[in-house]
Amino acid sequence: MDKSKPILVTGATGYIAGWIIERLLNQGYTVHATVRDPSKKNKIQHLYDLAEKSSGQIHFFKADLLQLGAFDESMKGCEVVIHTASPFVVTNYKDAVKDIIEPAVIGTENVLDSVNRTESVKRVVLTSSIASTYGDAVEILNTSNNEFDESHWNNTSNETHQPYPYSKVAAERKAWEMAEQQNRWDLVCINPALVMGPSLTANTQSGSVEVLQQFANGMTLLGVPPMWNGIVDVRDVADAHIQAAINTNAKGRYIISGGTLSLLEMGKILRQNFGNKFPFPRNQLPKSAFKLFGPLAGFSKSFVELNMGYPIYFNAQKSQQELGIQYRNIESSVVEHFQQLLDDGVVRKYI
Ligand code: NAP
Repeated sequence: MDKSKPILVTGATGYIAGWIIERLLNQGYTVHATVRDPSKKNKIQHLYDLAEKSSGQIHFFKADLLQLGAFDESMKGCEVVIHTASPFVVTNYKDAVKDIIEPAVIGTENVLDSVNRTESVKRVVLTSSIASTYGDAVEILNTSNNEFDESHWNNTSNETHQPYPYSKVAAERKAWEMAEQQNRWDLVCINPALVMGPSLTANTQSGSVEVLQQFANGMTLLGVPPMWNGIVDVRDVADAHIQAAINTNAKGRYIISGGTLSLLEMGKILRQNFGNKFPFPRNQLPKSAFKLFGPLAGFSKSFVELNMGYPIYFNAQKSQQELGIQYRNIESSVVEHFQQLLDDGVVRKYI
């Protein structure tokens, strides 16, 4: 890696991007950071502050995923492009195609069209997701070792069933298709589990925040569904992106996961650490309850059928062996993340 060449990070205001940029700045890189609206100073102030304390530099560029050619200017002179920008919304959307799928897929194509026009680019790192390796939890039954790995693909999500996972797998497939059509740049995909751990900004509506807000706002008080998540610390995810960017041997896809927790286990960890000041769940409700009442809580019948009652696990050995990731304790990540949301006023005491 030539440190005199800038590195482009798309979606710089984001939760994960913040930590990637922190690492790059502290290693002395010049970061070209794209944001949708640079006039929103409160969304980028933390990045200016990080740059000031570091040996690196940051320059901001305005770019919307859906505006063709928007990334050309920011990419000039870059050898590496780290494409994180994509909507990660769990419930906060109206139209899945317009709000999630189009920015993810058309956005990735748009960024990679710019890469194809920019001779200096040698490597693209795409933030994909474990959601690109499976569609519904039931698919764990078809795996040979009871875990998803990089050989697995999500073939079951679509625009109406699991639209966010669909956006991730469709964007990743588009990226591999475009990478295979040329030989100047190579693609490395980072496929993180649900990301937890403190954010460097209070101004992100990442789905990671939404998940913890649901624990704090009483939505899970009566009990959580029997569901499990792969979980990983945001700083491990950032390190994986850095390794994917600078390690010339990095190749293919990398599952990034520090372990699995059920929703009930997450609730218990929160209760142990933050006491009874929040309406954290004490119980796991049976699948049969969600079959009856799920639609009232926003769970479709097929979602309940295919996703509740199946613990899921992820094999992250490739990331440990090839990127050198040593995973942090995920229970601490959940606690530290909730504490940050509390400190920043994003979640409030209930009682
Ligand atoms: P985040 O904080 O919400 O960041 C998303 C970023 O995408 C924001 O910077 C946002 O910019 C940008 N963006 C969204 N729509 C855009 C558009 N039309 N044009 C330009 N920029 C746009 O979420 P995050 O958790 O950091 O997610 C970052 C990436 O990681 C996403 O690709 C997500 O799918 C992936 N991922 C996340 C997790 C997780 O658990 N958090 C797990 C696996 C993969 P604005 O600030 O302008 O909205």
